[in-house]
Amino acid sequence: PRNRPFEYEPSPVRVVFGPGRRAEVGEEADRLGLAKVMLIADGNTPGGRPVADALGDRLATRWDEVAQHVPVELAERAGERAAAEGVEGLVTLGGGSATGLAKAIALDTGLPIIAIPTTYAGSELTPVFGMTSTHRKRTGVDERVRPRVVIYDPELTVGLPPEITGPSAFNALAHCLAALWAPHGDPLTSALAADAVRIVTSSLPELAITPTDLDARSGLQYAAFLAGTALGRTGTGLQHRICHHLGGKLNLPHAETHAVILPHVVALNSPAGPDWVARLEPFLGPDPALGLWNLARRSGLSTSLSRLGATEEDVREVAGQVAGSANPVPVEAAQVEALLRRSLDDLPPS
Ligand code: NAD
Repeated sequence: PRNRPFEYEPSPVRVVFGPGRRAEVGEEADRLGLAKVMLIADGNTPGGRPVADALGDRLATRWDEVAQHVPVELAERAGERAAAEGVEGLVTLGGGSATGLAKAIALDTGLPIIAIPTTYAGSELTPVFGMTSTHRKRTGVDERVRPRVVIYDPELTVGLPPEITGPSAFNALAHCLAALWAPHGDPLTSALAADAVRIVTSSLPELAITPTDLDARSGLQYAAFLAGTALGRTGTGLQHRICHHLGGKLNLPHAETHAVILPHVVALNSPAGPDWVARLEPFLGPDPALGLWNLARRSGLSTSLSRLGATEEDVREVAGQVAGSANPVPVEAAQVEALLRRSLDDLPPS
């Protein structure tokens, strides 16, 4: 039917988008009434200095140690610093790892977060947190961790190396697909997700030729904003559970894992999703799984899970852990294992 029943509730996040707008972080802190903040800035990302300058006297302390999947011990140390300095809020500059560390602190303290993302991970728009201890990743949903303000400054992404750009863009695509097939999706969110797929599929090949093109970078970050919004509204399922279990167990890089797994999960789900398959056809062709796999290969991404470091035994274990996860097509362990084996062997999705 054209108009299915749905529910829609706008997200409370304030979003500021545009080149150079990292300089407005001080005013954004003032809007939230934050006189003392901790800046969590991934040491590899550009912009630490200007953001610190823009915060001026509001900057009480800096923290530059971040790690994927947020080790609990790291979150505890960073949280102790925030408490010792008596900060009223957290400002993050970096990818999902910097945002994730702030979320782990906010989960305990309720400290408000201003996020300045420098990848396309989308964590800045979600109430989802994740932490890892002893090779197990715990994820959860809590509104306290959702940043209050997000400042997207595409200038910060101009120097993002190709080996981070491609996988991170695929992480955004994974959010789009999750939103498109979510059982409680709504038409507005589906429209955002489909438009994000359109933009990613056109910007990624452009950026492969001219990685520093600010227009294409701006487009890709806008797509990440749409994808993150969609994810924040609909949540995750099988695709994300596979990546979290593999990531938590083997410390695999998050975005790269998404990129490898996504075409295979799309192949599993596309027979059950004629609506979204048709909607994505202009950007991915009639077989979206193959379209994604080809896009990944054309963009120089790895499509092999064994190249990331996983083995047959890992795949078997993870398949058992994620069987029965939320997914448009109910899945048993054997199906997940078969799907993951194809990715281990670098075979196209089927
Ligand atoms: P990341 O934050 O670890 O960054 C990847 C690498 O890129 C790092 O080495 C970083 O230093 C570098 N980098 C980041 N921005 C850069 C820039 N502008 N220029 C140069 N180098 C730059 O990786 P990520 O993929 O952004 O985030 C992954 C983490 O985020 C994982 O832990 C994942 O679980 C989490 N995540 C959470 C959610 C959520 O909703 N909770 C969503 C997506 C990802």
